[in-house]
Amino acid sequence: MPEPNLPKEFLRLLKPRQSEMLAVLRQFVVAESPSLEKAATDHCCGLIAEEWWKRDVRVERIAQKHRGDHLRISYWPEKSPPAGQLLVLGHYDTVYSTGTLRQMPFRISAGRAYGPGAFDMKAGIVQALFALETLQRSNTDPRKRLVFLWTSDEEIGSESSRKLLETEARRSDAVLVLEPSFGPRGLLKTARKGVGEAELIVQGRASHAGLAPEEGINAIHELAQQIARIEKWNDLRRGVTINAGIIEGGSRTNVIPERARAVLDLRALRASDMRSLERRLHALRPIHKGARLEISGGFDRPPLERKVSATLFARARSLAAKMGLSLGECTVGGGSDGNFTAALGVPTLDGLGAVGDGAHSSHECVVINTMPARAALLASLLAAC
Ligand SMILES: [Zn+2]
Repeated sequence: MPEPNLPKEFLRLLKPRQSEMLAVLRQFVVAESPSLEKAATDHCCGLIAEEWWKRDVRVERIAQKHRGDHLRISYWPEKSPPAGQLLVLGHYDTVYSTGTLRQMPFRISAGRAYGPGAFDMKAGIVQALFALETLQRSNTDPRKRLVFLWTSDEEIGSESSRKLLETEARRSDAVLVLEPSFGPRGLLKTARKGVGEAELIVQGRASHAGLAPEEGINAIHELAQQIARIEKWNDLRRGVTINAGIIEGGSRTNVIPERARAVLDLRALRASDMRSLERRLHALRPIHKGARLEISGGFDRPPLERKVSATLFARARSLAAKMGLSLGECTVGGGSDGNFTAALGVPTLDGLGAVGDGAHSSHECVVINTMPARAALLASLLAAC
């Protein structure tokens, strides 16, 4: 007897449910949830929790003082005690402040659903909801305990959720991240750069530019030379970038400035490059005699290296092929919470969420008819991993 084609079966079950998926997406999107507004975010959290409640799962709301509450949802069929855990990770906060809906209402046009946070990443949460329900309806028992974690502060660095998601990741055999996919073909993100920020402050000495130039130490001149030095560390081929994004210093043209400051964006594809970049930054020494440098910061999110996602990606690709879909992969320069779990050495696959466009912009949207297949792919991974 041929093996049952589960992915295809899941897709068959999910296709007729597209309009229900869309209705839930609308409900999540119209509940605006900017990372920095606790009351609004908590309201959205409540709506998401309610939807999961209906699916016969365990829902825990993890209260936060300053940020929206986090949601931890766990599921396993009672009859088979789980050996291991799979973590499905995502966030429900968005980068849009309350009121954005007035200029950017939830709307459907040409097969796409538009609205703040639709693509990044409320559609991912909807797909996960229907993926789980499909496992339940088809009586497919996952081999492992499933834990879904929906956090409230990914867009502002995950300060309140990092510990929680790292704890869950350590208990897990794999992490599936429902961040948006890339491009019109819905590529998964099998590598992400590590991301950091550093601040470079130069202390010089103020003096009159005309009367006593010899007594001054020009902090701006020093900073400019340091930046020229740092710029040479860029190595696009290796995926190393340093971007001086903010500079400031000085007060008047006839005053030799005593202070100048630069804020740098740091990115690297490899953990080894991340470490060497940090070492080089902190080893910078002044060029002008008497100038002082203060260097702080470094990488917040380590890189998600491809070796951590390769096996999971191969599995996802073969499951997608059973539905007749070809699944591609890519490397991206931006980080996500997947960077944290990958850095722990836990196999992590990112970009499993929606197919769409325009994250963090006024044309953010989801391609509606891809939602059932993405949910089917997730259901297949949840059943197979
Ligand atoms: Zn996101």
